[in-house]
Amino acid sequence: MTHKDINPRTKTIHCGQDRDPFTGASSMPIYQGSTFAQPDPDHPGVYDYGRSGNPTREALESAIAELEGGVRGFAFASGMAAITASLLLLKPGDHVIAAEDIYGGSYRILTTLFKQWGLETSFIDMTRPDLVEAAVRPQTRALFVETPSNPLLKITDLEAMGLIARKHQLLTIIDNTFPTPWLQRPIERGFDIVLHSATKFLGGHSDCVAGLAVTRTDDLARRIKGIQNITGSVLGPQDSWLILRGIRTLAVRMDAQQRSAQAVAEALSSWPGINKVFYPGLAAHPGRELNERQSSGAGAVLSFELKDGFVARQVLSRVKLCLPAVSLGGVESILSYPAKMSHAAMPPEERKLRGITDGLLRLSVGLEDPKDLLEDLLQALHK
Ligand SMILES: *Cc1c(COP(=O)(O)O)cnc(C)c1O
Repeated sequence: MTHKDINPRTKTIHCGQDRDPFTGASSMPIYQGSTFAQPDPDHPGVYDYGRSGNPTREALESAIAELEGGVRGFAFASGMAAITASLLLLKPGDHVIAAEDIYGGSYRILTTLFKQWGLETSFIDMTRPDLVEAAVRPQTRALFVETPSNPLLKITDLEAMGLIARKHQLLTIIDNTFPTPWLQRPIERGFDIVLHSATKFLGGHSDCVAGLAVTRTDDLARRIKGIQNITGSVLGPQDSWLILRGIRTLAVRMDAQQRSAQAVAEALSSWPGINKVFYPGLAAHPGRELNERQSSGAGAVLSFELKDGFVARQVLSRVKLCLPAVSLGGVESILSYPAKMSHAAMPPEERKLRGITDGLLRLSVGLEDPKDLLEDLLQALHK
C-alpha cells in the first residue's frame, strides 16, 4: 500500500514518521548533529552539513509534502522564512498581486524589504476575481493568496485564481496556515507553492516557531532547495521533531476545534454588544458555499467586532481561559487584537480600508469545552 492510496487521516500518523529504519523506534530520532562524516570527499553520503540536510528535518519535509500532495517539502525557521524563500523565486522589477487582508507579516515584508529590493505588490480584494484580473500587468509574475484570510476570514476562489494564473502564466503561491492540509489542499487544485506557519495548527501546542513550504513541481523544488540552502533559515532538528509530533494529532485536533468554533460563532452571533461575527461556517457568511466547495471545513479561527477599541481592550484584559496573545492554532484558545498585534505593521488607514477595525478581536478556538469558552467571553464582555 503506497501512501498515495491512504486517507489523509492515516497519512498524519505515518507520513515521514514510520518507524526508524535503524532501530525500529516508534518516533523519528532527533539527529542533533551539525556535520556528517565524509571519509571519501568524492563520494559524499546522503548528508554532509546540517544546513543542507538533516534526517529529522527531512522527515518533516516529506510529511508535509505528502499531506499537501506536492513533490517536496521544506522546513524553515519560521513561517516568515518560508514566505521569504518563496518570494525570492521572483526578481527585482517583477510585480506580485497579493490578497488585500493578507497576514500582517506578509504585508510588512512585501511593503518594506521586498519593495526596497524592487518587487512591486498590488494588494487586491481576492474575493473579486475581476479585480485580480484587472490588476495583472506585463511585469506580473505571481499571485499570493490566503484563504480563509486573516483576520476577516474572507474566501478566495482557488479555481478562479488558477484560471487567471494559467492565462497570464503566473506562479500561484498560497498561505495555507489557517485550513492546513487536513481541510484544504491547494496543490490538488493546481497551485504551485503552499506555505505554512507551522507554528500554528500543524505544531498545535504553541511551543515552537516553524515554517513550511511545499512545491507542486520538481523544478520549483530544486529552486526552493537552493534558496533554503543559500539563505540558511532552516528549522532545527528539535523543532522539526515537535512539528512532526504535532502533525500526528492534526486531524483530531482540527475536527474538535472546528466543531467548537462553529458553536462559539453561532452563539456570539446573537449576543448583544457584538456587531458582527466573521466565520466561514456561518450561514450568513458570503463565502460559505465557496469554502465548502474547495475545502472540507470552516476551520477553527473566527473574529468578531465589538463597539470600539476600548471595549475590545477590556475583553482582552478580562478573559481568564483564553490566552490574550498573538498567534493561533494551539490547543488553548487564543484571543488576539489584530489592530495592535498581527496587523500592527499595517498603517491605521490601510487597516480601516480593509475592515480591520479597532473593535475587532480574533479568536482561535482551542480544545476547551466551548461552554466554558463562551462563559469566559461573556464575563469579559459584561463584567
Ligand atoms: C503566523 C502566520 C504567519 C507567520 O508565521 P511565523 O511562524 O510567525 O513566522 C504567516 N501566515 C499566517 C497566516 C500566519 O498566521
